[in-house]
Amino acid sequence: MTQPTPKPGILDIELYVGGRSAVPGVEKVYKLSSNESPLGPSPAAVAALTAAAQNLQLYPDGSSLLLREAIAKTYGLDAARIVAGGEGSGPLLTLIANAYLQPGDEVILSRHAFLIYEIATRANSARPVIVEEKTTNSGIRIDVDAMLTAVTAQTKLVYIANPNNPTGSYLTRDEMRKLHAGLPPHVLLVIDAAYGEFVDAADYDIGLELAQQHGNVVMTRTFSKIHGLAALRLGWAYVPHAVSDVLNRIRGPFSTSPLQQQAGAAAIADTAHVAKAAAHNAKWRTWLTDEIRAVGLRVDGSAANFVLIHFAPGPKDAKAADAFLLARGIILRGVGAYGLPDCLRLTVGTEEANRLAAAALRDFMQS
Ligand SMILES: *Cc1c(COP(=O)(O)O)cnc(C)c1O
Repeated sequence: MTQPTPKPGILDIELYVGGRSAVPGVEKVYKLSSNESPLGPSPAAVAALTAAAQNLQLYPDGSSLLLREAIAKTYGLDAARIVAGGEGSGPLLTLIANAYLQPGDEVILSRHAFLIYEIATRANSARPVIVEEKTTNSGIRIDVDAMLTAVTAQTKLVYIANPNNPTGSYLTRDEMRKLHAGLPPHVLLVIDAAYGEFVDAADYDIGLELAQQHGNVVMTRTFSKIHGLAALRLGWAYVPHAVSDVLNRIRGPFSTSPLQQQAGAAAIADTAHVAKAAAHNAKWRTWLTDEIRAVGLRVDGSAANFVLIHFAPGPKDAKAADAFLLARGIILRGVGAYGLPDCLRLTVGTEEANRLAAAALRDFMQS
């Protein structure tokens, strides 16, 4: 060896690229590319953050107790089973992989899964096993039976985003139960519920039901989406006692700052703000879906805070639509990296942004 060499798998990782935020030459932009909240954070969270900034000379409480207790209180959970992640929930998903994967292990992922799962898998020299999804009338859905068929003696982890990004579809409570029931007890089922608060379907469970009952289920949540705190970089996981014991040994000793602890605790307690964001989202998600379908585009049903729009190959393809909207300052997310090169993902925005995006898509289709 002539140079320092990383672990096998790391150089197979494609760099994660986030949603764009600027358009050269366009002053006013509407960023609908990263599933951020059009309502922003709770004012109580901002006030708590500002107050916490008065004592920056002190090390934080390394156990994030205040935050974990606030989360536990809001959702009726055991604070000892909550692990807080001060870099967002993405790195918590990676922390789980770091703790449990060894070279040669297999991780089951759906075809259009969040890219972080594959990155975390490869970073630990494990092998992603990618399972095709099914196209249905309502959209592209994870295939539970196909996932169970992919289980082998090497399987260690199964990652599911529920609802999934970027498809917007979700597994029902019964489907998730079936998936879990088909896994051996040593396989960890990781339910990433980053968009769970947006789901209003009665047959959905955010993951807590399974996580409460079983020693091999983890649920992760984020402050980045419905709480409108993406810049704060804060997430949490609800895990079995044995898993919290493992994660607490390898996480950073001061994994959340006092700013995160205080702002996060205030945000989670402001259930009225969360309800307002969910109501805004439900209203405009339906409106956008209907309006965009009316101009002749296929829009998948979504349970989250974004919709997936399909374009036909040719002069009105996804690339042309993206360029057309960009020229008006409307930024969508290309999802070619997720195996959906003919689609764009549109985040539900403010009323103004939603109306402009729908009008731009109409003009594009008529141009
Ligand atoms: C946005 C998102 C997250 C949350 O990311 P953070 O690191 O907490 O900002 C997690 N999972 C999925 C599927 C997401 O789309």
